[in-house]
Amino acid sequence: METRKHLCTNCSFEADDDSDYCPRCGTLFIDNIKCEIHTKDKASGACVICGKPFCSNCGHSVNNIFLCNEHDGFEVYEGMAKIFGTSDEIQIHYVKGCLEENSFHPFIHSKKSAPMQLGGNDQPLINLSGNRREKILNEIKLLVPCSEVLEAEELITQLNI
Ligand SMILES: [Zn+2]
Ligand SMILES: [Zn+2]
Ligand SMILES: [Zn+2]
Repeated sequence: METRKHLCTNCSFEADDDSDYCPRCGTLFIDNIKCEIHTKDKASGACVICGKPFCSNCGHSVNNIFLCNEHDGFEVYEGMAKIFGTSDEIQIHYVKGCLEENSFHPFIHSKKSAPMQLGGNDQPLINLSGNRREKILNEIKLLVPCSEVLEAEELITQLNI
């Protein structure tokens, strides 16, 4: 059995046919949806974090993804949102484990950035005293699917880290 899909005209994501909006970018598939707050105003998108429809005063697109004013601070990557960031690998695995125990679907995104060289070209890469002139900018990010963000965040708050 093939499930029917609804192709999003904005981001080309194949959403389930019964969804009212694209879970990737918040584009509404139905015309007559009203803003959650201004019930007379037409909604211009659904926030991918809370899933509620909002008008253009209550939400806006960030990098082509619709977010409400309350959730527009989230970094969203392909349907996943960052809920935690640290450079401490042990800590991030701890948080991931806690989320998994509570049946969330966390994903660790670590983009190893190249060490940044400070100083000009005429400087030796490593000076003789052993001080390496570099700064490592490695933030490891913990992502969860957008629909799990709010509950996962609550759990992380309870972890008290
Ligand atoms: Zn979309
Ligand atoms: Zn929201
Ligand atoms: Zn509104």
